[in-house]
Amino acid sequence: MSVHSLRGFRDLLPPDSALFTQIEAAAREVFALYGYQELRIPAIELKELFVKSTGDTTDIVEKEMYAFTDGGGREVAVRPEGTPGMVRAYIEQNLSQTGRNAKFFYIGNMFRAERPQAGRYREFTQIDAEHIGNAAPFADAETITMLVKLLEKVGVAGCSVEINSLGCAECRKAYRQTLLEYLRLNVATLCEPCKGRVERNPLRALDCKIDGPALAEKAPRLSLCPACAEHFAHTQELLKISAIEYKVNPSLVRGLDYYTRTVFEVRTTALGSQDAIAAGGRYDDLVKSMGGPAAPAIGWAMGVDRVALLLKDKTKIDGSPAVYIVSASAQAQSQAFRLLAALRAENISADSSNLTLSLKSQMRSADKSGASYALIIGEDEIKAGTVAIKPLKEKGEQTTVPVADAPSHLKQLLRG
Ligand code: ATP
Ligand code: MG
Repeated sequence: MSVHSLRGFRDLLPPDSALFTQIEAAAREVFALYGYQELRIPAIELKELFVKSTGDTTDIVEKEMYAFTDGGGREVAVRPEGTPGMVRAYIEQNLSQTGRNAKFFYIGNMFRAERPQAGRYREFTQIDAEHIGNAAPFADAETITMLVKLLEKVGVAGCSVEINSLGCAECRKAYRQTLLEYLRLNVATLCEPCKGRVERNPLRALDCKIDGPALAEKAPRLSLCPACAEHFAHTQELLKISAIEYKVNPSLVRGLDYYTRTVFEVRTTALGSQDAIAAGGRYDDLVKSMGGPAAPAIGWAMGVDRVALLLKDKTKIDGSPAVYIVSASAQAQSQAFRLLAALRAENISADSSNLTLSLKSQMRSADKSGASYALIIGEDEIKAGTVAIKPLKEKGEQTTVPVADAPSHLKQLLRG
């Protein structure tokens, strides 16, 4: 048998894995600042959850979902996105009853059976924020601001924020008819899947990767009812207060069924066609339609893989230990083992290779490790109860200190 991973599924190796962790840690800090708490949701749910929330005419559900019948005969799916699970948890766990703001974040892997390419994988990581139970434009502006601040914090520069309003169910009802007429006239220009979708979900055609952009440009525009127009204007006023740069893009429709009113996307020019790094919007009717309370909501998801691609060459992540210990004899080995523990107890990262190997081979490993200092315990040091400290990165004299002083001495050296 040859072992290999599946197409579109990757091993994340260092230093990329550390870059992911760094991005996720930044997100956790930002979420804490904005009053978000973590929700951990299952990777597998009933398929129906995604069909009903994300929508059965969306690419995600129609083409990209890993769905199967489990051993108990249940139709289940591996989550392609986080919002449906978050909303299910909100309803099932009565999270509207806690008396606190329902602001939740989620960090986890999502699965979509798409054609793999740079920045597009079948398993990828999303950072996901959901604010449920707040209808006011303040929530829209706050969540977009939080997303921009997060991107700034992790060091992503040169992004553009695009926003649009899809209106409420009422605005959409009128628009659906107008759009349907336009699409019927242009049906010959549509790709095969969209031909079938036009009647079921005309808005979806505008979000198609193939013919969407050209269609959306010329399509009739949705006109907002006074309440939705006011909501959109107020949102923009607040974004200006937050000094968030954005552009209104009237052809931004987003590929999911549940969006209402504000939708937004953050793009970069640095990733070719995989240019969306985060996206989200309001979903005022979803919670209720899934059997929950009337709870307007807004959220977004950021693609960690794409952000990591953007930062890869700019971020230097050094996973090297500070100190590497080498030992010359059986007696020195126990001393080395004790010292490793003592250093780590002082929060000094320390490592060693196989302590039973030759001193020469251990020194080679020390050099390769990227450590700043080697701690050498040879025959002389054992006799004297000392250890030799040798700088590995910079030129400098080797010094010898009593074993007990080694941790504090190294601390000073590393600080300097
Ligand atoms: P795209 O238009 O690139 O297919 P999307 O609209 O399907 O993106 P969303 O469902 O809005 O994406 O997910 C939010 C973010 O998750 C995207 O902006 C992107 O950064 C990331 N993402 C989505 N699909 C993938 C994937 N297959 N591989 C890596 N990242 C992805
Ligand atoms: Mg997609």
